[in-house]
Amino acid sequence: MANIENFNFAGLKAIVRVDFNVPLDDNGNITDDTRIRGALPTLKKILADGGALIIMSHMGKPKGKVNPKYSLSQIQGAVAAALGTDVKFAPDCANAAEAAAALKPGEVLLLENLRFYAEEEGKPVGIEKEDPAYEDAKKEMKARQKEFSKTLASYADVYVNDAFGTAHRKHASTAVIADYFDADHKILGYLMEKEVTAVDNVLSNIKRPFTAIMGGSKVSTKIGIIENLMDKVDNLILCGGMTYTFSKARGGKIGLSICEDDKLDLALDIIAKAKEKGVNLVIGVDCVAGDAFSNDANRQIFPTNDIPEGWEGMDAGPKTREMFADAIKEAKTILWNGPAGVFEFDNFAEGSRAIAEAIVEATDNGAFSLVGGGDSVACVNKFGLADKVSYVSTGGGALLEAIEGKVLPGIAAIKG
Ligand code: AMP
Repeated sequence: MANIENFNFAGLKAIVRVDFNVPLDDNGNITDDTRIRGALPTLKKILADGGALIIMSHMGKPKGKVNPKYSLSQIQGAVAAALGTDVKFAPDCANAAEAAAALKPGEVLLLENLRFYAEEEGKPVGIEKEDPAYEDAKKEMKARQKEFSKTLASYADVYVNDAFGTAHRKHASTAVIADYFDADHKILGYLMEKEVTAVDNVLSNIKRPFTAIMGGSKVSTKIGIIENLMDKVDNLILCGGMTYTFSKARGGKIGLSICEDDKLDLALDIIAKAKEKGVNLVIGVDCVAGDAFSNDANRQIFPTNDIPEGWEGMDAGPKTREMFADAIKEAKTILWNGPAGVFEFDNFAEGSRAIAEAIVEATDNGAFSLVGGGDSVACVNKFGLADKVSYVSTGGGALLEAIEGKVLPGIAAIKG
């Protein structure tokens, strides 16, 4: 497999899939440019080598239709500023052959939003799965997706995928396009390499003890990950809203706390499995409860199995925070996904803060720590600790699928 560091792009045209799905305000201004900055090492390396650069991305969910609200022309200036060079714009990504052919070494072309074409995602539009004609429509769309991918591939000599955020999708630009390049001309970008290495550090290249922290609102959305991790971790902290499903399953009183009543058996199953596998399962014993779902609610500490009516567990209590910190501080590998409470409310953020701070301490002591998947990234950002952990993943769904043990199509298309 070709490697970005060793590849020489001189005199070649590279088409690079990035994730420039950046948030915009009502005036089309970028409110968070993390994703653009994340792709810069790869883009700059290609230009520095003397290659020409064709950048492609999606933005939002235009569902196969042209929609100015999602036009990448809005970020053309920001990309140019970040790269420190002019960026040309191709207003139709499927008809950019001339603009691509005219590119000289060191020049940059940004293609319009790939998802203005339904072919990018490759799902038939305007037809329900139940429709008898759906299967035929799907086949036809897959054929069109191949054509679309071939067109994109025809613009360049080499394909680089640096969009980890969409690596779990088998889309034209993230996976199918790779079929049109030989093994020496398809490459993972630097960001993608970093993500793959980080995932590898928590799934196979594990230094022990390994502590995983799974939080968030529901056990049902994390079950695939919990099951995959059960064979790998030494300590498994389950926190956040799912605490109360476990508590109720064990016969506890949980007041108004959130609970998945249809997952009580599953919770007992997880407890039994952890015991069988010798995993130290850490679930909160006390909580900070509120008498309303609001930052200004009255607060009181209760045992997680004895919460009175009218109160709901919204954060980890003081004993629980200590238990979490103990299991984290001794670890040499740490994975954190999902908050320990309603961290968006400052008055219920202490559990998540305790986790973040313990991770920072362990990292200082030589642990590898990976934080990823939506809200835990928001947590470390909120506490100003993002640069004090080993790695903050840029991919929400993609990271979750990777740690569930699934093969990501965007990576498989290049690595084989
Ligand atoms: P998820 O999307 O499943 O990772 O869940 C993240 C959300 O879970 C965040 O918005 C938190 O506010 C929420 N959450 C965490 N703990 C609780 C809790 N005890 N009660 C209600 N929501 C919670």
